[in-house]
Amino acid sequence: MRAAIYSLGKGGMRLMNRYDVVIIGGGPAGLSAAKAASSEGACVLLTEREQRLGGILKQCIHDGFGLIKYGEKLSGSEYASREIHALDDLDIDIRKLTFVSKITKHENTPYCFTIDLVSASGVETVAAKTIVLATGCRERTAKQIEIHGTRPAGVITAGSAQYYLNIMGQMPGKNCVILGSGDIGLIMARRLTIEGANVLGVYEAKSTPSGLRRNIYQCLDDYNIPLHLSKTVSKVHGKNRVEGVTIVDVDEQMKPVDGTEEYVPCDTLVLSVGLIPENELAESLGVEISQFTKGPVCDENYMTSVKGVFSCGNALHVNDLADYVSESGYAAGKAAANFINDSNDFSAEVKFSEDFLYAVPQRISSPDANLTLYFRSRYERGKTRLTVKSKDGVILTKHYHDLRPPEMEKLNFNISDAGLSSGDYIELIMEREY
Ligand SMILES: Cc1cc2nc3c(=O)[nH]c(=O)nc-3n(C[C@H](O)[C@H](O)[C@H](O)COP(=O)(O)OP(=O)(O)OC[C@H]3O[C@@H](n4cnc5c(N)ncnc54)[C@H](O)[C@@H]3O)c2cc1C
Repeated sequence: MRAAIYSLGKGGMRLMNRYDVVIIGGGPAGLSAAKAASSEGACVLLTEREQRLGGILKQCIHDGFGLIKYGEKLSGSEYASREIHALDDLDIDIRKLTFVSKITKHENTPYCFTIDLVSASGVETVAAKTIVLATGCRERTAKQIEIHGTRPAGVITAGSAQYYLNIMGQMPGKNCVILGSGDIGLIMARRLTIEGANVLGVYEAKSTPSGLRRNIYQCLDDYNIPLHLSKTVSKVHGKNRVEGVTIVDVDEQMKPVDGTEEYVPCDTLVLSVGLIPENELAESLGVEISQFTKGPVCDENYMTSVKGVFSCGNALHVNDLADYVSESGYAAGKAAANFINDSNDFSAEVKFSEDFLYAVPQRISSPDANLTLYFRSRYERGKTRLTVKSKDGVILTKHYHDLRPPEMEKLNFNISDAGLSSGDYIELIMEREY
């Protein structure tokens, strides 16, 4: 039985379940957060809007998951299954088919968050000391990339195509053009080919691919699927069903080049044009959102700008590996369980140059912090020296053979010798090596 408190609602006094930690999202990030928080002795509620735990991994039947965490090549669903079973012996309240629609922050009470849960039995409000946001990310759609033309059936995001094939057992189309060379697009190019579709090509507006190198080899090269760089879809044709698309060259500013239009007949346009962290709940709480990651700004414990609210996994920034997602979930869950609402106001900044696409965390809340720092380079680079500096000198130097935007990098280091005071910063610098 969970501890309960009486609260004054519209209908008078009512009993409200209360928890130390409420986790929103039952993907790999939320599952790890639940495990960590419960292992620390916290009373935990894990909520998931779908019928089954596992998040996006449920539909990832290809392998390549768990190499770091388990030292094995697992499918996404196998990885999810291990993470779900890791909760078996723990005393965690798990609510599936339960959507968190609203979180409210209250002052001067230890259970300072109330969370509205919507399920088949109605709306229930629970109270929590801390929140972990593990809500994942969503795909960008045709609307967000402004392709001209009609809107016939057959324009589909890569994740939806994956759901059709792997969960529903339905082919989304026969002659497919894939727009965007992100990992999901590459994986779907291979998957559609294996199931008998004709994948006419993957078209990428940038001059370099957006997906992991291993996915270019394993998903395109091994299946003779052509990758066309610096090209995009400018128009969709068809009334009821897609009949074709216009492909056009793009210049370095990503602007279409007149006179390069080419009509490609097809019945399906699969979009793999980016993922956006899902953060409506964070925004409603006033959490500061990074312009670089589109996820919350956080400290080394994954705490956001709102005390007691933590974020992890793809809700924080789009990860390429589930292993890193689980890692951030575990750290966030542990920190949430041990959170003390004290008056610590130490804050140092993590600054980075224009050479970085982003770095996480963006803040440090202890002068002795152990940092796990994730970053991506903005550009494809050859040999590079990365230096982490404070005002007193170099904290760390690392050499890279190359850096690419699709490959997220990770650094572990301690800053206790850097002598940081509140208001100071550490700085990340990339320099070319010859
Ligand atoms: C197609 C594809 C291929 C991939 N391939 C690989 C690979 O080969 N190897 C690898 O390591 N990684 C791969 N990844 C990446 C990995 O799967 C993701 O990084 C990881 O699943 C993200 O985990 P998450 O827990 O942050 O989010 P998710 O898995 O998206 O889980 C978030 C969960 O939160 C729930 N939720 C959201 N909002 C609410 C709410 N308001 N109330 C209740 N519940 C809510 C959602 O229903 C969902 O279940 C792939 C990803 C995709 C999409």
